[in-house]
Amino acid sequence: MNKIRSNESKTLGLYIHIPFCKSKCLYCDFNSFAGMEMLIEPYFNALKKEIELYAGRLEDCLVKTIFIGGGTPSFVDAAFISDLLHICERNFTLKKDTEISMEANPGTLSREKLETYMKAGINRLSIGLQAWQNKMLKFIGRIHTVEEFLDNFRQARDEGFKNINIDLIFGLPGQTMADWKETVDSVAGLNPEHVSCYSLKIEKDTPFWEMLETGKISQAEDEMDREMYYYAKEKFNGKGMKHYEISNFAYPGFECEHNLIYWKAEEYIGIGAGSHSYINGERYNNVYDICRYIKEVTNGIIPLENVERIDFRDRVSEFIILGLRLIEGISTVEFRKKFGCDISDIYGRQLLKLTERGLIEQKGNNIMLTGKGLDLANQVFIEFV
Ligand code: SF4
Repeated sequence: MNKIRSNESKTLGLYIHIPFCKSKCLYCDFNSFAGMEMLIEPYFNALKKEIELYAGRLEDCLVKTIFIGGGTPSFVDAAFISDLLHICERNFTLKKDTEISMEANPGTLSREKLETYMKAGINRLSIGLQAWQNKMLKFIGRIHTVEEFLDNFRQARDEGFKNINIDLIFGLPGQTMADWKETVDSVAGLNPEHVSCYSLKIEKDTPFWEMLETGKISQAEDEMDREMYYYAKEKFNGKGMKHYEISNFAYPGFECEHNLIYWKAEEYIGIGAGSHSYINGERYNNVYDICRYIKEVTNGIIPLENVERIDFRDRVSEFIILGLRLIEGISTVEFRKKFGCDISDIYGRQLLKLTERGLIEQKGNNIMLTGKGLDLANQVFIEFV
């Protein structure tokens, strides 16, 4: 691999993948594994090596966000996380106020771990709660109870975490509107700075897919799914949180900077098995298999696959599709600056059609989804593929 110079902004996001979980949730198709504890130490050694391999190549780059995701990063010994961040600091130039996020799951957290994370520099915690009913948590394969979540949330506050996200899922099999209201109301009552609400999509190769195929569970009706979405939107907006992306709410100033990098089609590097990168006009991912990842990195090779050169048309298309996920939409001024032409020069016909169907609108210099467009976002995105 050649030296990488981040073009345009000279800043980038760093994603680090920790693929270990205590057990697998029934809906999960992420690159995460249970029962692989014996690989934790060699995996972290490989992460360290991959960071060092990148370090010499990321000349002039400023890391503005770090996101440690998974899997369950809080499942492993906190010292691994702390060492990992020291290695990042030693090898990369970090922005003074770098946002450093980590995903954590109740049932794997403790006060001691939280204290270590805080000391290591983690300043944003993303806790996976998903639902407020213990019966539901058990049914979807989560390892924790609501009480454990509450303990961890309070411990995190006591340890000084001032930027906490809570992840929720709606449209779960058997989830009633009353369940969802209880989840949203209880979470709103805790005043987290950020909430993510994802509509469940049952993916292939998950136990839920099998259960769906055999009629053991059914997918939530569209109408119910939308009703749940509107409820969350109204509740969190009512609390003064900004609905800033299709699935995300935050108090002003607490939007996730790392995820904004993805939605604004800016550059990022992914470290770890199966992580994705987008830099210098190329998109690629590391191999997904943990053992192969460890072996190749240990031999001094970053095991890339699916390396794809992104041409002008793809860059334009990605900028629009990702940018329309943001409630403020895409700026026509930024578009011209980035691509040297007007958005209507390329997509004039599509923009007109979507405006006539009431799915997008223009306010000032921004083009965004309408309320109807938010519900039918996939129909909008397909026009730009
Ligand atoms: S904790 Fe997260 S990554 Fe792990 S199995 Fe559950 S959903 Fe997947």
